[in-house]
Amino acid sequence: MGEIIDGKRISAQIKEEIRIRAIEFEKSHGRKIGLAVIKVGEDPASAIYVRNKVKACEACNIASFAYYFDANITQDKLVEMICILNDDKRVDGILVQLPLPQGIDERAVLSRILPEKDADGFHIVNAGKLFLGEYTPSVACTPRGIIELIKSTGVEIAGKHAVVIGRSNIVGKPVAMLLLANNATVTVCHSRTRNLADITRTADILVAAVGKKKFVKADMVKRGAIVIDVGMNRDDEGLFGDVDFDTVKDVASHITPVPGGVGPMTIAMLLKNTVDGAFNE
Ligand code: NAP
Repeated sequence: MGEIIDGKRISAQIKEEIRIRAIEFEKSHGRKIGLAVIKVGEDPASAIYVRNKVKACEACNIASFAYYFDANITQDKLVEMICILNDDKRVDGILVQLPLPQGIDERAVLSRILPEKDADGFHIVNAGKLFLGEYTPSVACTPRGIIELIKSTGVEIAGKHAVVIGRSNIVGKPVAMLLLANNATVTVCHSRTRNLADITRTADILVAAVGKKKFVKADMVKRGAIVIDVGMNRDDEGLFGDVDFDTVKDVASHITPVPGGVGPMTIAMLLKNTVDGAFNE
């Protein structure tokens, strides 16, 4: 059986490093690093994510400023709030919890966050910098966490064939860019890819970001591959990844579980982006 990549343990280590850096910042700057979190509407999953982010800030000596708005807030009001936070010296990072209610243009709202305060790394400037291979402290959190998990195995990324299933703007595309920046040879697959299994079977590193329960089966995986499961698929039976863990674990050299793999890394990377951004100012 392959080794389980313990995202909980690795994220706890990273959060401890973040806490130490956040204390250093407070000593040298006379204030805490600050993260503003905006939630709009009553989506129950968003409420849990926001609560967890605020709690993680507290644990890492980061001040959190939470703003909760009704779903009927206008886009203009939301942008006005973002402009206030852009000018607020206590705030180093701004996060708008997605999805936003229908009728609000997410991209238009996110684009109003100052790129230097873009804790989620979704701003078009930061996405563009990632594409150009330029340094930015704001890198999409889940992809940044995925790279940390791969590195935790001790296996060199350079020269490996990495296959990413999924091409979303929040996971598939940015993780492909980060793998490329780490000198992997990268193939990105999606719903129109032909002979998917033939491609995934050539992967030394396989990242599944499909959004379909147990989509990746053992016969799609090369023996000894590192398998990273990004999927979070909830149904009546519980929470499931995109990988059929029970069978794939016997083929992979390393594999992330769901829960306890990529998920915990996302919040850790959000805090890391915020702290990196604060020190970068
Ligand atoms: P998404 O926007 O729905 O993208 C899914 C991707 O999978 C699309 O590119 C789609 O291709 C591709 N796809 C769908 N069916 C396919 C098939 N049969 N064969 C090959 N590719 C196929 O999803 P996402 O936002 O990237 O999220 C993916 C999963 O990760 C979800 O389960 C989500 O909940 C989870 N997630 C977890 C975290 C975390 O912190 N752990 C963070 C973000 C997302 P097309 O582009 O052609 O449609």
